[in-house]
Amino acid sequence: MSTDPIQEAGGHHLVKVLKFGGTSVGSAEALGRLVGIVAAESKMARPLLVVSALSGVTDLLHALEKESEPKRQQVLMRKLARRHLALSGEVLDHDRHAEYLNRLSDRIENLRDVVRRGPSALRSHAIWASGEWMSAPLVALLLQQHGLNAEWVDARKLIHVVKSASGSWVVDRNQTRAQAERWFHHLPADKLPVITGFLGADDDGRVVTLGRGGSDYSASLIAEAVGASKFDRWTDVDGLYTADPRKNEQAGRFLYLLLEDATTWNEANQLGMHAHAFEPVLHACIPVHVRSTRQPQGDGTLILPAHLPKRVEKDARELMDRSNAAM
Ligand code: ASP
Ligand code: MG
Repeated sequence: MSTDPIQEAGGHHLVKVLKFGGTSVGSAEALGRLVGIVAAESKMARPLLVVSALSGVTDLLHALEKESEPKRQQVLMRKLARRHLALSGEVLDHDRHAEYLNRLSDRIENLRDVVRRGPSALRSHAIWASGEWMSAPLVALLLQQHGLNAEWVDARKLIHVVKSASGSWVVDRNQTRAQAERWFHHLPADKLPVITGFLGADDDGRVVTLGRGGSDYSASLIAEAVGASKFDRWTDVDGLYTADPRKNEQAGRFLYLLLEDATTWNEANQLGMHAHAFEPVLHACIPVHVRSTRQPQGDGTLILPAHLPKRVEKDARELMDRSNAAM
């Protein structure tokens, strides 16, 4: 007999992708809020997490990639190590911190090799991807510490990237769907995966990154592949605005958006997200909810497809009922 409330509610078909951006994993307070949100969400549905690098880390890695002076490379790598060391020391208990430090020092060692190697195919991608390789294990260990059965997942095995005719890297959507679907099918139902955003792999398994802000695209691709009922994009702003609310007092928040409109506007670079972020969820008619970790009860911005297929509508209602009941 099951004592799992989700199973009892017959809710295991309700899969939610929760994506946490850099500011939502970048400090001890933010990580504390993340734990609370994930614990609450896992009572209502089966969450899959996608995480960015800690805030500022991808910028630092870009600077490192461009830097050719060995001394300055060392300074940047030390800064990177110290940032992760300090944050993990703040949030993890003794044993988990030791485990994380092992992983971190391997990662830094690896990065040092790549940086030293000098120009080579995909060198820059291997450098940029390091941020997510360092954040996902940290988040997974922290969730374990709070009693959740988390494990970090390297998105190289989920997201497949190929060279287009024009020479740029693009996600192979069909192959990605097939790979991620197969992975999910074999994932034990009680596992809470913490997936690295922003990256995938080419035919040879070499890491390729998806462009700045790419973690939203990762989350959207995964939501499509696993047939998620909802994609929650957690950030530190309470939704999408008509303009940057920090710079423009007149900026108004969108309460609702049509997914079709959001996709078009975003492609025209009006929403400031990764250009392809909405394509997979639009294709699969999956609602997106942009929410703030600082106000988890707030409305945020709800982005709905114009036509909800029956299954999606039923799931959306069920999710709403459960979160109303939980409040
Ligand atoms: N860390 C990457 C970036 O800052 C990907 C992301 O956060 O979406 O662009
Ligand atoms: Mg980032």
